Amino acid sequence: MTNSPELPSDVKELDEWQRALRAQFPIVTAHPDLAYLDSAATAQKPRPVLDAVQTYLTTSNANAGRGTYPWANRTTALVEQTRDLVREFLDDPAPERSAVHFTSGTTEGLRTVARDWLPNFLADGDEIVVPVADHRANIDPWTETQRLLARQGVHVRVVAMPYQQASGDYDHTALARLAGPRTRFVAVTHVHHVYGGDMNVHRIRGAVGPDAVICLDAAQSVGHLPVSVAGLDVDFVAFSGHKALALPGTGAVWARQARGPAFVPGGWSGTPNTVGIVSLAAALDWLRAAGTDRIERWTVALAARLTDGLRDLDAYEVVGCRTSLAADSPVQRRRGIVTFRHRDIRSGDLGFILFSHGFMVRCDHHCQGSAGERSESVRVSLHVHNTVEEIERLLSVLGALG
Ligand code: PMP
Repeated sequence: MTNSPELPSDVKELDEWQRALRAQFPIVTAHPDLAYLDSAATAQKPRPVLDAVQTYLTTSNANAGRGTYPWANRTTALVEQTRDLVREFLDDPAPERSAVHFTSGTTEGLRTVARDWLPNFLADGDEIVVPVADHRANIDPWTETQRLLARQGVHVRVVAMPYQQASGDYDHTALARLAGPRTRFVAVTHVHHVYGGDMNVHRIRGAVGPDAVICLDAAQSVGHLPVSVAGLDVDFVAFSGHKALALPGTGAVWARQARGPAFVPGGWSGTPNTVGIVSLAAALDWLRAAGTDRIERWTVALAARLTDGLRDLDAYEVVGCRTSLAADSPVQRRRGIVTFRHRDIRSGDLGFILFSHGFMVRCDHHCQGSAGERSESVRVSLHVHNTVEEIERLLSVLGALG
């Protein structure tokens, strides 16, 4: 499957680059009749990631941090090198001070911060801001900590993050009004997994002041666009390795270690997911070589095409960012996720219809928090292997449904 001549002009020069990268995804090239449009749930893996896993398991598989023979030493070194790689990948300005803890994904990363760090940081009467229309992984851990502390007589107030109704963006002005000296912890999301927008988190620091700790859910940004902790001034970043082309059961949480007590995940954690960590290193290397800036440009261009195409079809409502590519419009902040509904066809049914045409999409509530969308929707989420041809074909199938 190739890109059509209608490649958006701003990404025309990426055509060859994209074809070469797409060719590296064995599951994609083995199924030219299918279009995988669910990378926000988990991403497909390029050949070098699969090869790195195979090589590791057939040359030096051992436990890490134990044993003194070469395979064990090599495994220990791979784990430590991957920690450094995560720091570099996130553009860490002070890698000697930060911590990187490996997890199974974003959920476990956020929950580790909530369980092992937050209770040591909060005092009676403090406030935490919780993004109640974001993914439940970025809501439940914080309210669980609130309940846990309450049982110990420490009462923390949960402040619901304010949103702009039409776009699903945070309302930074309202947040600045809500935030006071007791607002000590703010949980935010980099790219919204339903609304598809970059949530402008670089503006959060200005809204909440210099002392509040900001914890970033980067599940939909790491691996899809350049993420710079230097530029964002956040304290924690949790992400899913498996959404960034590494194996299932991988992820990490990065901690700046500048505000509040040190982040020291508690307890004996046992044998690490060495194979997963090897795959994460290979995935981050691959992404760096491919260029996350170009991956972002490519997926943003496809998502903009889909958004604009849907807007021309009366039967569909786009959820979140809606307008076209006018300067500074929300669509330009739309990353590679587009969510929509049909006026008459239930989203679940639409999912079945789309699969009968070879499209794999997500159709449900997308694990959104209680302040999120009331009804189900269809989500298309893109990665670098997706093509303009896939988007055009999807639009023509959607158009034919009236
Ligand atoms: N946060 C966001 C924004 C997500 O999109 C997801 C995955 N859909 C998660 C958290 C949870 O990630 P994981 O399943 O890897 O724990």
